[in-house]
Amino acid sequence: MLADKDRIFTNLYGFQDWGLKAAQARGDWDDTRALLARGQDAIIDEIKASGLRGRGGAGFPTGMKWSFMPKEARDGRPSFLVINADESEPGSCKDREIIRHDPHKLIEGALVAGFAMRARAAYIYIRGEYIREAEVLFAAVQQAYDAGLIGKNASGSGYDFDVFVHRGAGAYICGEETAMIESLEGKKGQPRLKPPFPAGAGLYGCPTTVNNVESIAVAPTILRRGAAWFSSFGRDNNKGTKLFQVSGHVERPCVVEEAMSIPFRELIDKHCGGIRGGWDNLLAVIPGGSSVPLVPAAEIMDAPMDFDGLKALGSGLGTAAVIVMDRSTDIVRAISRISYFYKHESCGQCTPCREGTGWMWRVMERLRTGDAAAEEIDMLFEVTKQVEGHTICALGDAAAWPIQGLIRHFRPELERRIAQRGGIIAEAAE
Ligand code: NAD
Ligand code: SF4
Repeated sequence: MLADKDRIFTNLYGFQDWGLKAAQARGDWDDTRALLARGQDAIIDEIKASGLRGRGGAGFPTGMKWSFMPKEARDGRPSFLVINADESEPGSCKDREIIRHDPHKLIEGALVAGFAMRARAAYIYIRGEYIREAEVLFAAVQQAYDAGLIGKNASGSGYDFDVFVHRGAGAYICGEETAMIESLEGKKGQPRLKPPFPAGAGLYGCPTTVNNVESIAVAPTILRRGAAWFSSFGRDNNKGTKLFQVSGHVERPCVVEEAMSIPFRELIDKHCGGIRGGWDNLLAVIPGGSSVPLVPAAEIMDAPMDFDGLKALGSGLGTAAVIVMDRSTDIVRAISRISYFYKHESCGQCTPCREGTGWMWRVMERLRTGDAAAEEIDMLFEVTKQVEGHTICALGDAAAWPIQGLIRHFRPELERRIAQRGGIIAEAAE
């Protein structure tokens, strides 16, 4: 179990004040000028050496992403950092805790990361429903300005750096990085085709890096404690500490910082008081937020909770939003509800997603009630394969994968419902 001394988020539960003085007492903003004095390349190298991979779900190496940004302004175009605080993935609730209780870690991280990638400003795009969190963030940013930590000559570094907070308006798709950029520009939030990646052409056509809240908030601590310290947790390719968000049928749902690669059973026993009704009562787990496939109980028990461990099980770490389902769960209904979510949130711009998400959800509903024909199970699987990888953004994949996981692992349950419903109809006809 991660020792308290190794936790980055020391006020995750809000036992102390979130304000500047209390944050400084916890070590935030401690001689930030000296951190910046190391120079842009040294900061990026340290983040690369730490092994930090993006905490928003995709796990792209953070230091490498920063290094894609131009070292010299091209055609007078400034560079920007966009911080993704749109946290809308069902099951995900970690960025919310950081912003509520440790906002200065995020703001200091914005300065350090923005400086390293030579950005003139950071835009924090916060989910519209996070009203109280936005209030905290606005106030914390103002505190940082008032104290001279950001703005002109930020932290006495000679570097000018602004931080803007922008509130979303409730669309899940605005969490996709290019839709977020469109939304920031005042347009309808619809994803752009990639490439070009934002580092080439992002906000207002300028070089931009989009990073998740957690990825940015851990950066100052990594620089202070060193890449070797951060990479001493986890295993190769899966380094560092990570915020896990455990919801569903555990005794005590929680958000907790743990070492990457902690085995699933240890995570649940140590922090959540075990599975409701005991371990034999576990049915399945969605380990990384609703867009990754479920994993049946027997397979996940000893799995390392990291990118590679969960990928090997045909799923993914995603945002580490661990949704635990016990045997009381109607698993078909649960996945059908997730299908509805993606149908509802599709921006409608590409055909496989716009048409496919609705089609998949309607079949899922027939499977839930047992009204589908047996052949529709294979047909549905085939349709998910036609959607997967054939859309502009990852929402198409996110709609397809949970259904694939259900069919792969719970096919007998789907067949049982169809047979049972068939029996009821036949009986009624006699
Ligand atoms: P992605 O793999 O397309 O990209 C990841 C990041 O790496 C992006 O910033 C992208 O610009 C960058 N990148 C990738 N290849 C690059 C290259 N060749 N050159 C330059 N930059 C490159 O994934 P994505 O669509 O950004 O994110 C998908 C993930 O988002 C899913 O895995 C899901 O878990 C997660 N997600 C999170 C939430 C949430 O609330 N946090 C919501 C929905 C989905
Ligand atoms: Fe929009 Fe769906 Fe296409 Fe993404 S995959 S761009 S959400 S229609």
